[in-house]
Amino acid sequence: MVNHLKNKEPIKADTPHGSLATRLATLQQQVGSQATIIGVTKGQPTPLIEEAIALGMTDFGENKVQEAYGKWPELKQRHPHIRLHLIGPLQSNKVGEAVGLFDVIQTVDREKIAQMVADEAARQHRRLVTFLQVNTGEEPQKAGVAPGQLDALVRFHGDNSLPVPLGLMCVPPAGENPAPHFALLAKLARRHGLQELSMGMSGDFATALRFGATYVRIGTALFGPRA
Ligand SMILES: *Cc1c(COP(=O)(O)O)cnc(C)c1O
Repeated sequence: MVNHLKNKEPIKADTPHGSLATRLATLQQQVGSQATIIGVTKGQPTPLIEEAIALGMTDFGENKVQEAYGKWPELKQRHPHIRLHLIGPLQSNKVGEAVGLFDVIQTVDREKIAQMVADEAARQHRRLVTFLQVNTGEEPQKAGVAPGQLDALVRFHGDNSLPVPLGLMCVPPAGENPAPHFALLAKLARRHGLQELSMGMSGDFATALRFGATYVRIGTALFGPRA
Protein backbone atom coordinates (compact mmCIF):
# COMPACT_ATOMS: atom_id res chain seq x y z
CA MET A 1 0.00 0.00 0.00
CA VAL A 2 1.37 3.39 -0.98
CA ASN A 3 0.63 6.52 0.94
CA HIS A 4 0.71 9.15 -1.81
CA LEU A 5 0.49 12.08 0.52
CA LYS A 6 3.47 10.87 2.46
CA ASN A 7 5.45 10.28 -0.73
CA LYS A 8 5.25 13.98 -1.58
CA GLU A 9 6.91 14.97 1.63
CA PRO A 10 10.67 15.40 1.50
CA ILE A 11 12.44 12.12 2.15
CA LYS A 12 13.83 12.10 5.64
CA ALA A 13 16.41 9.52 6.53
CA ASP A 14 15.59 7.40 9.56
CA THR A 15 17.75 8.46 12.42
CA PRO A 16 19.69 5.42 13.52
CA HIS A 17 18.15 5.77 16.98
CA GLY A 18 14.62 5.90 15.68
CA SER A 19 15.03 2.94 13.41
CA LEU A 20 16.77 0.79 16.00
CA ALA A 21 14.07 1.58 18.56
CA THR A 22 11.36 0.62 16.06
CA ARG A 23 13.07 -2.61 15.03
CA LEU A 24 13.66 -3.61 18.63
CA ALA A 25 10.05 -2.91 19.60
CA THR A 26 8.78 -5.00 16.69
CA LEU A 27 11.15 -7.82 17.50
CA GLN A 28 10.25 -7.78 21.20
CA GLN A 29 6.61 -8.07 20.25
CA GLN A 30 7.32 -11.07 18.01
CA VAL A 31 9.50 -12.82 20.59
CA GLY A 32 7.36 -12.03 23.60
CA SER A 33 8.41 -13.46 26.93
CA GLN A 34 9.46 -16.85 25.54
CA ALA A 35 13.04 -15.94 24.67
CA THR A 36 15.84 -13.51 25.42
CA ILE A 37 17.01 -11.48 22.44
CA ILE A 38 20.78 -11.50 22.00
CA GLY A 39 21.87 -8.52 19.91
CA VAL A 40 24.63 -9.79 17.62
CA THR A 41 27.05 -6.88 17.29
CA LYS A 42 29.84 -8.31 15.11
CA GLY A 43 30.70 -5.75 12.45
CA GLN A 44 28.65 -3.05 14.21
CA PRO A 45 29.99 0.25 15.57
CA THR A 46 30.12 1.08 19.28
CA PRO A 47 27.67 4.06 19.11
CA LEU A 48 24.97 1.76 17.75
CA ILE A 49 25.63 -0.71 20.59
CA GLU A 50 25.38 2.16 23.08
CA GLU A 51 21.95 2.98 21.63
CA ALA A 52 20.82 -0.60 22.04
CA ILE A 53 21.96 -0.55 25.66
CA ALA A 54 20.13 2.75 26.21
CA LEU A 55 16.99 1.06 24.84
CA GLY A 56 17.30 -1.58 27.53
CA MET A 57 19.02 -4.48 25.77
CA THR A 58 21.15 -6.52 28.16
CA ASP A 59 22.42 -9.50 26.12
CA PHE A 60 24.86 -9.20 23.24
CA GLY A 61 26.77 -11.67 21.10
CA GLU A 62 30.07 -11.62 19.26
CA ASN A 63 31.49 -14.44 17.19
CA LYS A 64 35.21 -13.56 17.34
CA VAL A 65 37.21 -13.13 20.55
CA GLN A 66 39.63 -10.66 18.96
CA GLU A 67 36.94 -8.41 17.50
CA ALA A 68 35.05 -8.43 20.80
CA TYR A 69 38.16 -7.15 22.60
CA GLY A 70 38.16 -4.15 20.26
CA LYS A 71 34.95 -2.73 21.71
CA TRP A 72 33.56 -4.66 24.66
CA PRO A 73 36.02 -4.10 27.54
CA GLU A 74 35.11 -0.40 27.60
CA LEU A 75 31.41 -1.01 26.99
CA LYS A 76 31.29 -3.54 29.82
CA GLN A 77 33.10 -1.19 32.14
CA ARG A 78 30.46 1.47 31.47
CA HIS A 79 27.61 -1.05 31.68
CA PRO A 80 28.57 -3.81 34.12
CA HIS A 81 25.14 -5.46 33.97
CA ILE A 82 25.59 -6.50 30.32
CA ARG A 83 25.91 -10.20 29.53
CA LEU A 84 28.24 -10.89 26.62
CA HIS A 85 27.82 -14.20 24.77
CA LEU A 86 30.49 -15.86 22.65
CA ILE A 87 28.61 -17.38 19.70
CA GLY A 88 31.54 -18.20 17.39
CA PRO A 89 33.99 -21.11 17.49
CA LEU A 90 36.46 -21.15 20.37
CA GLN A 91 40.07 -22.28 19.77
CA SER A 92 42.14 -23.52 22.68
CA ASN A 93 44.67 -20.67 22.37
CA LYS A 94 41.84 -18.13 22.90
CA VAL A 95 40.21 -19.71 25.95
CA GLY A 96 42.00 -17.48 28.49
CA GLU A 97 40.98 -14.30 26.69
CA ALA A 98 37.44 -15.54 26.09
CA VAL A 99 36.94 -16.40 29.76
CA GLY A 100 38.27 -12.96 30.72
CA LEU A 101 35.66 -11.10 28.66
CA PHE A 102 32.59 -13.24 27.97
CA ASP A 103 29.88 -14.11 30.50
CA VAL A 104 28.35 -16.89 28.44
CA ILE A 105 30.30 -19.21 26.15
CA GLN A 106 27.78 -20.84 23.83
CA THR A 107 30.22 -22.77 21.68
CA VAL A 108 31.79 -25.43 23.91
CA ASP A 109 31.97 -28.43 21.59
CA ARG A 110 34.66 -30.79 22.86
CA GLU A 111 36.12 -32.17 26.06
CA LYS A 112 39.38 -30.26 25.87
CA ILE A 113 37.62 -26.90 25.51
CA ALA A 114 35.11 -27.74 28.25
CA GLN A 115 37.94 -28.58 30.66
CA MET A 116 39.99 -25.52 29.68
CA VAL A 117 37.03 -23.15 30.11
CA ALA A 118 36.33 -24.56 33.59
CA ASP A 119 40.01 -24.37 34.61
CA GLU A 120 40.39 -20.80 33.31
CA ALA A 121 37.16 -19.67 35.00
CA ALA A 122 38.47 -21.00 38.32
CA ARG A 123 41.88 -19.43 37.79
CA GLN A 124 40.41 -16.02 36.85
CA HIS A 125 37.65 -16.19 39.50
CA ARG A 126 35.02 -15.75 36.78
CA ARG A 127 31.49 -17.13 37.08
CA LEU A 128 30.75 -18.36 33.60
CA VAL A 129 27.79 -19.98 31.93
CA THR A 130 28.30 -22.43 29.08
CA PHE A 131 26.20 -23.88 26.29
CA LEU A 132 27.18 -26.84 24.14
CA GLN A 133 27.13 -26.17 20.41
CA VAL A 134 25.70 -29.04 18.39
CA ASN A 135 26.56 -29.44 14.71
CA THR A 136 23.04 -30.58 13.83
CA GLY A 137 23.80 -30.71 10.10
CA GLU A 138 27.08 -32.62 10.68
CA GLU A 139 28.84 -30.17 8.37
CA PRO A 140 32.58 -30.93 8.32
CA GLN A 141 33.62 -27.25 8.28
CA LYS A 142 31.32 -26.20 11.11
CA ALA A 143 32.02 -26.09 14.84
CA GLY A 144 29.85 -28.08 17.21
CA VAL A 145 29.72 -31.56 18.63
CA ALA A 146 28.09 -34.17 16.37
CA PRO A 147 24.64 -35.16 17.70
CA GLY A 148 25.92 -38.70 18.26
CA GLN A 149 28.80 -37.43 20.42
CA LEU A 150 26.71 -35.18 22.64
CA ASP A 151 25.98 -37.90 25.21
CA ALA A 152 29.69 -38.42 25.79
CA LEU A 153 30.39 -34.69 26.08
CA VAL A 154 27.60 -34.24 28.65
CA ARG A 155 28.88 -37.28 30.57
CA PHE A 156 32.40 -35.81 30.53
CA HIS A 157 31.06 -32.77 32.41
CA GLY A 158 29.57 -34.98 35.12
CA ASP A 159 32.57 -37.29 35.38
CA ASN A 160 34.95 -34.35 35.82
CA SER A 161 32.71 -32.21 38.05
CA LEU A 162 32.53 -29.39 35.51
CA PRO A 163 29.65 -26.92 35.86
CA VAL A 164 26.57 -28.29 34.10
CA PRO A 165 25.97 -26.53 30.75
CA LEU A 166 22.87 -24.36 30.75
CA GLY A 167 21.67 -25.43 27.32
CA LEU A 168 22.37 -26.19 23.68
CA MET A 169 23.09 -23.97 20.71
CA CYS A 170 23.04 -24.61 16.96
CA VAL A 171 23.50 -22.89 13.60
CA PRO A 172 21.60 -24.88 10.93
CA PRO A 173 23.22 -25.34 7.51
CA ALA A 174 22.76 -22.30 5.25
CA GLY A 175 20.08 -22.74 2.62
CA GLU A 176 18.37 -25.66 4.36
CA ASN A 177 15.01 -25.72 6.08
CA PRO A 178 16.07 -25.01 9.67
CA ALA A 179 13.00 -26.63 11.25
CA PRO A 180 14.37 -30.21 11.53
CA HIS A 181 17.58 -28.83 13.06
CA PHE A 182 15.69 -26.85 15.69
CA ALA A 183 13.51 -29.91 16.40
CA LEU A 184 16.62 -32.07 16.85
CA LEU A 185 18.25 -29.55 19.19
CA ALA A 186 15.09 -29.35 21.29
CA LYS A 187 14.92 -33.15 21.48
CA LEU A 188 18.57 -33.43 22.54
CA ALA A 189 18.11 -30.77 25.22
CA ARG A 190 15.06 -32.58 26.64
CA ARG A 191 16.94 -35.86 26.71
CA HIS A 192 19.69 -34.31 28.84
CA GLY A 193 17.44 -32.14 30.96
CA LEU A 194 19.09 -28.96 29.66
CA GLN A 195 16.80 -25.95 29.90
CA GLU A 196 17.98 -23.37 27.41
CA LEU A 197 17.90 -23.45 23.62
CA SER A 198 19.94 -20.85 21.72
CA MET A 199 18.63 -21.06 18.17
CA GLY A 200 17.26 -18.72 15.53
CA MET A 201 18.83 -15.74 13.78
CA SER A 202 17.35 -12.82 11.78
CA GLY A 203 16.03 -15.05 9.00
CA ASP A 204 14.64 -17.95 11.00
CA PHE A 205 13.91 -16.89 14.57
CA ALA A 206 10.14 -17.28 14.15
CA THR A 207 10.67 -20.95 13.27
CA ALA A 208 13.10 -21.36 16.17
CA LEU A 209 10.51 -19.93 18.58
CA ARG A 210 7.98 -22.51 17.38
CA PHE A 211 10.45 -25.23 18.39
CA GLY A 212 11.07 -23.75 21.83
CA ALA A 213 13.98 -21.31 21.48
CA THR A 214 14.77 -19.49 24.73
CA TYR A 215 17.56 -17.35 23.22
CA VAL A 216 17.43 -15.90 19.71
CA ARG A 217 20.57 -14.33 18.22
CA ILE A 218 19.64 -11.34 16.08
CA GLY A 219 22.12 -9.26 14.08
CA THR A 220 21.01 -7.67 10.81
CA ALA A 221 17.29 -7.54 11.63
CA LEU A 222 18.16 -5.23 14.52
CA PHE A 223 21.30 -3.37 13.54
CA GLY A 224 21.17 -3.46 9.74
CA PRO A 225 23.90 -4.66 7.39
CA ARG A 226 27.34 -5.32 8.87
CA ALA A 227 30.46 -3.38 7.92
C1 LIG B 1 26.20 -13.55 12.88
C2 LIG B 1 25.53 -14.57 13.72
C3 LIG B 1 24.17 -14.44 14.09
C4 LIG B 1 23.31 -13.27 13.64
O1 LIG B 1 23.03 -13.38 12.28
P1 LIG B 1 21.92 -12.43 11.59
O2 LIG B 1 21.49 -13.19 10.40
O3 LIG B 1 22.61 -11.16 11.26
O4 LIG B 1 20.83 -12.23 12.57
C5 LIG B 1 23.63 -15.40 14.91
N1 LIG B 1 24.35 -16.46 15.33
C6 LIG B 1 25.64 -16.63 14.99
C7 LIG B 1 26.37 -17.82 15.50
C8 LIG B 1 26.27 -15.70 14.18
O5 LIG B 1 27.55 -15.88 13.84
